[in-house]
Amino acid sequence: MCGIVGYVGDRLGVPIALKCLSALEYRGYDSAGVAYIDNGKIYTEKRVGKLVNLYNSLKNKIIPSSCAIGHTRWATHGEPNKNNAHPQTDCNGILAVVHNGIIENFDSIKQDLIAKGVKFNSDTDTEVFAQLLAYNLCAKLMHNTMHNTAHNTIKFSKKTIIKALNKTIQQCEGAYAVAIVVAGIDDCIFFAKNKSPLIIGKGEEESYLASDTPALLGFANKFYSIKDGELGYIEKNKIVVFNDNLENVKIKFQQITIKTEQVMLGEFKHFMHKEIEQGASSIIETIDRIKKLKVLQKIPPKIFEDKFNLHITACGTALHAGLIAKYIIENQLRVPVDLDYASEFRYKKPILDAHSVCLFISQSGETADTLSCVELAKQKGATTIAFTNVPASRMESIVDFVVPTGAGPEIAVASTKAYLAQLAALYAFIEYLAIILKKEIKFNCGMIKNLALKYSHQDYTKVLDDIVEEIKNEESIYFIGRGVDYLLALEGALKLKEISYIHCEALPAGELKHGSLALINNNSFVVAVLTQSNLIEKTLNNIHELNSRGAKVILISPFTNLENFVYKQIYIPNVNDLLTPFVAMKPLQTLAYKVSISKNLDPDKPRNLAKSVTVE
Ligand code: GLU
Repeated sequence: MCGIVGYVGDRLGVPIALKCLSALEYRGYDSAGVAYIDNGKIYTEKRVGKLVNLYNSLKNKIIPSSCAIGHTRWATHGEPNKNNAHPQTDCNGILAVVHNGIIENFDSIKQDLIAKGVKFNSDTDTEVFAQLLAYNLCAKLMHNTMHNTAHNTIKFSKKTIIKALNKTIQQCEGAYAVAIVVAGIDDCIFFAKNKSPLIIGKGEEESYLASDTPALLGFANKFYSIKDGELGYIEKNKIVVFNDNLENVKIKFQQITIKTEQVMLGEFKHFMHKEIEQGASSIIETIDRIKKLKVLQKIPPKIFEDKFNLHITACGTALHAGLIAKYIIENQLRVPVDLDYASEFRYKKPILDAHSVCLFISQSGETADTLSCVELAKQKGATTIAFTNVPASRMESIVDFVVPTGAGPEIAVASTKAYLAQLAALYAFIEYLAIILKKEIKFNCGMIKNLALKYSHQDYTKVLDDIVEEIKNEESIYFIGRGVDYLLALEGALKLKEISYIHCEALPAGELKHGSLALINNNSFVVAVLTQSNLIEKTLNNIHELNSRGAKVILISPFTNLENFVYKQIYIPNVNDLLTPFVAMKPLQTLAYKVSISKNLDPDKPRNLAKSVTVE
């Protein structure tokens, strides 16, 4: 999930690389590092922890290099220490590599290189890539002498480097986006890509590499999304891309406009707070975009004929949005939906054929687990439809149809506005499906938009103050609900656990008595979600069961006359039962955010996590 950048031009490269990296920190913050070339020699600087540590170590230095690569890491192989931080170099200092992805056959390559005398310095799969590339480079020049010569004084030609890079990527299995600087070549960065995202950005007399476009905001205005299997190099005025047969690829730049305010904090202290407040506008923008681009009309009605079977695959918060879609489709349209975690779906031998219609939900469009499922579905002849938030993502380029979500860049690791945008896009899809299937449903996108507009200013920050103080030191908090409310409880629990580090567990309210009630005592806090009018009594029974065991129940509900039965109630707007997810999530997200900041944690960068999960 790491973030990588590269700069080559006339300006000082390291400060630019650091600036671009700051927009990529959502991808990982276990360590950060840069490598740059000065007078033909490679230098690296790395620090454990967030980018600010690296920034502080460099802020008083003027580094006269206009060619730099940078990295912010989310560790997969090797603990987050300085040795394992990127850039990784080979043992002769010939080259430095930054990498996003996993080299799956790293161990066998490593053993092979060790047997040949190569000395390793880290536990990463990335170092294996660096050492193998250096080995391939040197093997071309002089096999057998590799360990006795000062190889970092040899100047390799770009052609030699590209050939060695191509050989290296043929030998490596797995996912990678790599940027490489090579000693002796001051003005050039090499790259290769398979599965992990990598784009080229072009500015005036300068070129860039980055894991995504927002990283280059204010630096480049033209972008090329590198395709799997492509490799090449960038110079300040030249970009060369090859396919895996080393034939030149003609690339077409795309103009993408990102508004600065979308990636700035503005009046907010944290992106998560800003993004919770943008929930309503994400819903509205999503519906408007889907209507304007007529994306649903591109999905041919014939795929929903007789024998069609529907599948939803996603991970994390996106899966929770998918669960609500499954509930509504089954409940309203009476069409069965198979839903699975992407990481499970792929290995369960799913029953897919040409009649299958598979919906994939991914904020980034780069989620590796979900992407593998797209590939599998395609192999089986299924129709694939992606619900994604990042234009021109890998998922968008490989599916049959795209339904875009209009959340805009989401920076905080814990997803908030993108969840609501995903719901809006899924409801728009359900409305379209209902028309095709000639079924009646009790909502339409216009109603969702009105609701988002009407309640956009609903503010829960004050009413949650007391609760936050009381629960912030809890070890466990339970979330309960029935039907749609259980699905909302799942997302509420995920939000709170990921940024407060409190163990949170969501349960169907009726399931408590089948086991988990054993965990409840008079110190327990339970968040109950109750938005479904037909379930008031049944959920209330479960609340009584909790009260009898001394639990303190915090109720999120629009219904009156319940306050006496609970410790505290947070009132939400009373809307159509099918549309409650659009109004019930804000207090749950706000609760998570407030608990996180009350514990002095960073809600935008929770420990051990990163945003676009580009590794399986
Ligand atoms: N596998 C590399 C490491 O652990 C990169 C990880 C990633 O891209 O998430 O350093």
